[in-house]
Amino acid sequence: MEEKTTAQQLRERLLNERKNGWDVVGEATEQAIFDYSEGYKAFLDRGKTERGCVAYAVELAQEMGFIPLERGMILEPGMKVYRVNRDRAINLAVVGSMPLSRGTSIAAAHIDSPRLDLKPVPLYEDSELAFLKTHYYGGLRKYQWVAIPLELQGVVAMKDGSVIQVSVGGQPGDPLFVIDDLLPHLGAEQSKRPLGEAIPGESLNILVGSRPLRGDEGADRVKLSVLNLLNQKYGITEADFASAEIEAVPAFHAVDIGFDRTLIGAYGHDDRVCAYAGLKALLDLSVTPRRTTVCVLADKEEIGSDGVSGMQSHFFETFMEDLCASQSVPLWACLENSFCLSADVTAAYDPNFPEVYEKNNSARVNYGVGLCKYTGSRGKSGASDAGAEAVAYVRRLLDDRDILWQMAELGKIDAGGGGTVACYMANRNIDTLDAGVPVLSMHSPFEIVSKLDCYMTYAACRALYES
Ligand code: MN
Ligand code: MN
Repeated sequence: MEEKTTAQQLRERLLNERKNGWDVVGEATEQAIFDYSEGYKAFLDRGKTERGCVAYAVELAQEMGFIPLERGMILEPGMKVYRVNRDRAINLAVVGSMPLSRGTSIAAAHIDSPRLDLKPVPLYEDSELAFLKTHYYGGLRKYQWVAIPLELQGVVAMKDGSVIQVSVGGQPGDPLFVIDDLLPHLGAEQSKRPLGEAIPGESLNILVGSRPLRGDEGADRVKLSVLNLLNQKYGITEADFASAEIEAVPAFHAVDIGFDRTLIGAYGHDDRVCAYAGLKALLDLSVTPRRTTVCVLADKEEIGSDGVSGMQSHFFETFMEDLCASQSVPLWACLENSFCLSADVTAAYDPNFPEVYEKNNSARVNYGVGLCKYTGSRGKSGASDAGAEAVAYVRRLLDDRDILWQMAELGKIDAGGGGTVACYMANRNIDTLDAGVPVLSMHSPFEIVSKLDCYMTYAACRALYES
């Protein structure tokens, strides 16, 4: 073997050369990556909405012996508990062998994704076609939501207290829905408009029917016919839309992308890819962790984390306080010693749009879980900006277990920005670092992630839980 030159030695010792994950992982890890991805794809297909994710998470958790946390419960080390918040968010915990005064290890992700919500008075007819009016939820590019197959998922809450599940388009043979777009032949004027203005919010109307009610001479016969079908299937009337939450989401299934099947294309990777990682890592814990481990799957992140089911809700404190009460530990004493991975996606460097990325500090597909010291926009506005020590803690945690990671900033400083739930956890006096999967086409109806990065994010959550 040839001696390494001084320059080579310096190169290895001093430079931080980034490597593509596929050049680093061994065969066993490679298999684990592909196996893990199958479970994740199933999660995506079940969890098209936050409610869908919660229902499936409960199912998986119960299979692994998790039970609902009740106030006043005696909690022994190793006990697995969960609590659902209004069917839209869920917290799960495995009680550690150390007391809660030593803090907890938390992975917090969100399960809401950008989509089109039905308005409270959605159904109307125009020119003998029936439509549903929508109000978009989260930061989406409106032009991407026309002329693609959509399904409708959600609930109608009735005045008598019953809640009716609505699901059309998720099962084979179901009809689908669509927002029609202008034909290019007549699109000359529309094409001159800026991308953000070409499709106004008020034109995101979903086509839902075209057949007039037979034997009727009144107005709106197509609308009436659609309402009749809805009434037969769900027992609802037009007024019941007022207390409904029905989401139009892309009717795509999660699929492998690429000849080499290394990527996954799907709706809702942001942030179900990290939600699943945090959840699966908790379900897979085989021994009682030292610190109590908590997985938080929050709602409403895409619109600011406000509201009863968002990360700012005191649902989190109530859950933690109920855990702490069993050991007579003050809640805030527990939180100040806790650590949180704010598990949320970041933007992957996209070679088709190099102008918005700063290459040295952008996450790359297949380079592992992306750690963001700060998010926010402009001068880090809206960021919690994790302390250097918090970043060092996670570096050590991941390096000790050969988990592939990279530092990530969300694009060029002046190109835009974004936030996560990190600041809301950090505001609770919990050391918090953003960590998540780099995504291509983020917030589009069909986002793309790397299987390797998904697995590394799972491994990172597991490392945190087992720390
Ligand atoms: Mn997100
Ligand atoms: Mn998002």
